[in-house]
Amino acid sequence: MRERLGTRQPLDARELVALDRAHVWHPYGPMPGRTDPLVVESASGVRLRLAEAAYGQRELVDGMSSWWSAIHGYNHPVLNEAARGQLDRMSHVMFGGLTHEPAVRLATRLVEITPEPLRHVFLCDSGSVAVEVAVKMCLQYWRSVGRPAKQRLLTWRGGYHGDTWQPMSVCDPEGGMHGLWSGVLPRQIFADAPPGTFEEYDASYADRLRELIGRHADELAAVIVEPVVQGAGGMRFHSPEYLRVLREACDAHGVLLVLDEIATGFGRTGRLFAAEHAGVSPDVLCLGKALTGGYLTMAATLCTSRVADGISRGEVPVLAHGPTFMANPLASAVACASLDLLLGQDWAQEVKRLEAGLRDGLAEAASLPGVRDVRVLGAIGVVQLDHPVDMAAATEAAVREGVWLRPFRDLVYTMPPYVTGDEDLERIARAVRAAAAAG
Ligand SMILES: *Cc1c(COP(=O)(O)O)cnc(C)c1O
Repeated sequence: MRERLGTRQPLDARELVALDRAHVWHPYGPMPGRTDPLVVESASGVRLRLAEAAYGQRELVDGMSSWWSAIHGYNHPVLNEAARGQLDRMSHVMFGGLTHEPAVRLATRLVEITPEPLRHVFLCDSGSVAVEVAVKMCLQYWRSVGRPAKQRLLTWRGGYHGDTWQPMSVCDPEGGMHGLWSGVLPRQIFADAPPGTFEEYDASYADRLRELIGRHADELAAVIVEPVVQGAGGMRFHSPEYLRVLREACDAHGVLLVLDEIATGFGRTGRLFAAEHAGVSPDVLCLGKALTGGYLTMAATLCTSRVADGISRGEVPVLAHGPTFMANPLASAVACASLDLLLGQDWAQEVKRLEAGLRDGLAEAASLPGVRDVRVLGAIGVVQLDHPVDMAAATEAAVREGVWLRPFRDLVYTMPPYVTGDEDLERIARAVRAAAAAG
C-alpha cells in the first residue's frame, strides 16, 4: 500500500488504520495507539460518516462538536462559502507589516460582542497559544509598570488551560493530565476547586479565595480561571458568584483577571460568554474552539486598553509574540461567517432547547448503578461515574446507539452542535446512558 501513497488512488480504511498506527500520534495517546481509531470519510450536519461500519453503524451523530468547536455542524453551506470565497482571494499572508479585511473585521466584531472594556485582539493559532499570550501580556504588563516581582499566577484546582508550558502550569496539578511535570513547570498558586454546583454558593470558600489573593498579591501577576464551567479538568460547574469575588479581590489587590472562555465562549453555557452569568469583565479574555465553528484552528486573546497601554509604554514597548500563521485570513473569514451565523439566529433559544432535552434525556442516568452525578448546563450534559470509565466499552456502547462520544476519566459527557434536532438529541442522550451503563 505504501507504493500507492504517492498516487491519487484512495487508501481503504484498513490501510489507513495500519499506517496511522505506524506513524501518527493521537491526543493523549501512546505510540502505537492501544485502540484503532475510527476512520471518518466525511461529515455533514451533525453526522460523521465512517469509511467502514463500526458495530453495525456507518454514520454517527456527533455528541462532541469535535471538542466544543463544531457548533453549526459539519459541511455547512455558509461556512463552506466563506472558506471558498477567501481561498480564491488568498488563504494566507504574513501579518507583520500587512493586514487584511477578514482579520480586521473579526477583531472588531470580537470587541463588539465581548464584555466592555476589552478592546484589543491578538489572533493566534490555538487555545493553548492564546493562554500563553494572555500570560505573557500579564507578566509583561507588570514588568512595564515597574512591578517585575509580579510574575506568578493563581488559579483554582480542577481547571484545564491547554497543553503548552504556561497553560500546563495552571491545569489541575493532580487530577489533571500534567501531574507528571510538577517540579519542572513554573510553580503557581492553587486555591481549592470551586465547591458545589451552578446554584450553590459557599461564602467561606469565597473568603478563602479573597485571603489567598491578598496574601500573594505582591507576587501575583494574574488570576486565571475558566468561568462557570471547568471543562477538560473535570466537567464541573460552579456559582458565577465566585467570578464576582475574584473580580473584586483582583481589583482590591492589584492583580489582573484572565478568563479562559476557550470552551465556554459562543453560547455553550446559555450566555454568549460565561462571564455574563456573573456580569463580570476580565482584563484579559481567551477565546478559541468554536471561534471558527470548528473549521480551522484559530484562537484570540483580548485585553483592555489599560493592559495594552501598560505593555506599550514599557522598557520593551512591544508585545513580543508573532506566530507565522497569525490572523490567518482563511480562518478569520470563516470565523466572521460563523459569528454571523450564530448571532443571526436565536441561538440562546436553541441552547435552551438542548438544555431541556439533555435534562430530560439524562435524568434517568442518575439511577444507573455506578453513576455518581448527572448535571446539565446550557448545551452541556455530564454523567459522572463513581469509577474510571472503561473507554473501550463506553465508546462501543455509544457507537452501537449510532452516536460518537469520547468519555474520559470518570466522565461520559456531551456538548452537541447547536443544530442538533430533537430526535438526534434523544439519541445522544440514549447513547450517554448506554455508555455510562457499559463503562
Ligand atoms: C481546549 C482548551 C484550551 C486549549 O485549546 P487548544 O486549542 O486545544 O490548544 C485552553 N483552555 C480551555 C478552557 C480549553 O477548553
